[in-house]
Amino acid sequence: RLHNLVQELKGNIRVFCRVRPLLAAEKEKQKGMEHLHFPPQDNKTLVLLREEESHIGRERKEDLKYDFSFDRVFRPSASQEEVFEEISLLVQSALDGYHVCIFAYGQTGSGKTYTMEGPDALDPERRGMIPRAVRQVFQGAQELAEKGWQYRFSASFLEIYNESLRDLLGARPECGELEIRRVSSASEELHVPNLRRIPVASEDEVKPAFFLLIPTESQRFCPETSRGCAGMKVGHHGVPHSHPQVLQLLQTATANRSVARTALNDHSSRSHSIFQLRIDGTNAARELRCSSVLSLVDLAGSERLDKSQSQGKRLRETQSINTSLSSLGLVIMALAKKEPHIPYRNSKLTYLLQNSLGGNAKMLMFVNISPLEENFSESLNSLRFASKVN
Ligand code: ADP
Ligand code: MG
Repeated sequence: RLHNLVQELKGNIRVFCRVRPLLAAEKEKQKGMEHLHFPPQDNKTLVLLREEESHIGRERKEDLKYDFSFDRVFRPSASQEEVFEEISLLVQSALDGYHVCIFAYGQTGSGKTYTMEGPDALDPERRGMIPRAVRQVFQGAQELAEKGWQYRFSASFLEIYNESLRDLLGARPECGELEIRRVSSASEELHVPNLRRIPVASEDEVKPAFFLLIPTESQRFCPETSRGCAGMKVGHHGVPHSHPQVLQLLQTATANRSVARTALNDHSSRSHSIFQLRIDGTNAARELRCSSVLSLVDLAGSERLDKSQSQGKRLRETQSINTSLSSLGLVIMALAKKEPHIPYRNSKLTYLLQNSLGGNAKMLMFVNISPLEENFSESLNSLRFASKVN
């Protein structure tokens, strides 16, 4: 495939920048976006401008300019569909056996969750990269079926908060904390025993007695304890085809995340959420098989917290976020330089993704940017982080 060839020549890491639009309420405070400049006819550059009092001259105003270039810069007007178009080939390559890992990095409120999940998984226009990617994979599998490929899929959705793992598809408290383990002592392959992996089928398949997860009010996962307090009811449902099941699963995860959000004062902005679709393909006639994992990761907010807030629980949260985001950066940089040692083990996030990041993996990072001028220095930090890994 030409696409794969191009990827190989370019390296396996790409960075896309996306600036979200001003929200209706924000337009009252801030008229335009003068501090952000998108050079015309150039969809790879973003310039940050700051008018600063010069300390050298006499009350002379001086513009500070920061130029950044990425594989692609999406302006505030870019639709979810336009963004997805640019990643669809990458997603498709998961069916060819490539591990694909897509991250959203940025401060809280910059549009990470909007990009990854969308405001509503059932809204076809505004739904995000996860439901679109799943659909693309299912459609691709259908096309490859004509060439003799048969696929099996399973999905998991977990969250890492303060370096502990939680199942967003229903915790099993009886199993204790989720841990990352080797599949066997002889293998480098990692897994998370007791994490729910829900089989999902491709869109055209009819599975009359398919397991569907139904969260019940009383059984939702409980954010106060560091473990989930209960799982979910698993029932039999006759569902005509399976795409809605994946959407249902996404909604379950979102519901579990938002329960935690209210209880822990926007806990979701301080946790990483990781959706994984495992893909196993076989081609009986040609005696071929391939397996891969498509991971979509909504990272914890990258903002630096106010020093006054950095005490107790907040301090621990901040430290674990800083550790995991910086170790992700170091892992990506080490991979890009093809260093012999990749420091996966410094955080749960990178350890969990170890199998999906090295080797024949393809990576894409969205750096999400807020259009608010008051977020100038956070935006600058995010862009600097993203240029380092690019
Ligand atoms: P984060 O997950 O980074 O904290 P969100 O995805 O929750 O940020 O986005 C913050 C707010 O901005 C939400 O109200 C969201 O709906 C809105 N938003 C983000 N990106 C866009 C976009 N591209 N178009 C319209 N609204 C957006
Ligand atoms: Mg979010």
